[in-house]
Amino acid sequence: MIRVEHLEKKFGSLTVLKDINIEIKKGEVISIIGPSGTGKSTFLRCLNLLEHPTSGKIFIDEVDILDKNTDVPKMRQKMGMVFQSFNLFNHLSVIDNLTIGPIKLLGKSKGEAEKRAMELLKVVGLAEKANSHADELSGGQKQRVAIARCLSMDPEIILFDEPTSALDPTMVSEVLAVIRKLAREGMTLAIVTHEMDFARDVSNRVLYMDEGLIYEDGSPEQIFGNPQREKTKSFINRIRSFNYHIDSPDFDLYKMNAEIELFCEKHAFSHKVMKDILLVIEELLMLYKTQLKIFDVDLRVAYSEKHNNIEITFDNLGEEGNILDKADEDDIGVMIIKNKAEKIEFQRIEEKNRLIILLK
Ligand code: ADP
Ligand code: MG
Repeated sequence: MIRVEHLEKKFGSLTVLKDINIEIKKGEVISIIGPSGTGKSTFLRCLNLLEHPTSGKIFIDEVDILDKNTDVPKMRQKMGMVFQSFNLFNHLSVIDNLTIGPIKLLGKSKGEAEKRAMELLKVVGLAEKANSHADELSGGQKQRVAIARCLSMDPEIILFDEPTSALDPTMVSEVLAVIRKLAREGMTLAIVTHEMDFARDVSNRVLYMDEGLIYEDGSPEQIFGNPQREKTKSFINRIRSFNYHIDSPDFDLYKMNAEIELFCEKHAFSHKVMKDILLVIEELLMLYKTQLKIFDVDLRVAYSEKHNNIEITFDNLGEEGNILDKADEDDIGVMIIKNKAEKIEFQRIEEKNRLIILLK
């Protein structure tokens, strides 16, 4: 359905896309992941010609869309795009947002367009908001309207550019649920996303972008479970763990806890697991405060696929050895940590003490 050959895009002297080659087949659900600034948005924008590629070819249904004789508006209609920032017409009602395109660009009658719009609002769960003003809606509702508006143009593929990044965390799932539904119904989708769990279970193919290339291309099982190339590996491992460096006993505990909570939410850890993580970390840092001569701790929270639970690792520079052994038996902090742990392991690695706590 879409074939991209040697696509290159430069902004002045900056080469963002070096050499992109890819084929997207009808019905595929593709997630595009990678660090920010690697050209994911630029790639989507080149596909539907919001940006003009510097060189290379893009074919849609075998039509060369960069050929100067190609009817660009017609080609662009085949590709809907959903942006991070919704881009609705805020001064119009919800239903008018959905009918304006089909009436003006597809030549539909008002009645026809409204009938289809109501069907689509049902699909995204917003039929009762048809006559509301777009700016009266919540972010999650706006984004669902944006998806319905996209569908109203009968696209062959929808390109999503981080559709949930601008949303309040409580609204992410309602939007993801709608995208899941489209995927199940066989719509062709390309989704740039930071929601890794979503990418993993919704898509049948994952592209990891880096260095201006599609650096690795594979099934979700391959990319998330067994990435082959160096940069993919480090990206996947980084997003699955939370790392924090503490270099003063007076560090900002609230800031650290807020970041841990965000990490837990992102990975859909239960509330109980999150509380346990926070508790164990806080108790251990209290112990470090009383015992460490040099306060230099690297903390890591990671989901261990092997054990199917959470592993918290503390690295500190120093000669102390295992501080859990040094503390009093009846120290309340030690008791809490032991109570929450399935297993506690101590390792001495070069100049460092490493304590690994596997949560129950
Ligand atoms: P991603 O979506 O992966 O975060 P982008 O495609 O937004 O990356 O951007 C890739 C690079 O291209 C960035 O360095 C960005 O600053 C640059 N860039 C994007 N759009 C433009 C533009 N219109 N003009 C100049 N530089 C741009
Ligand atoms: Mg982007």
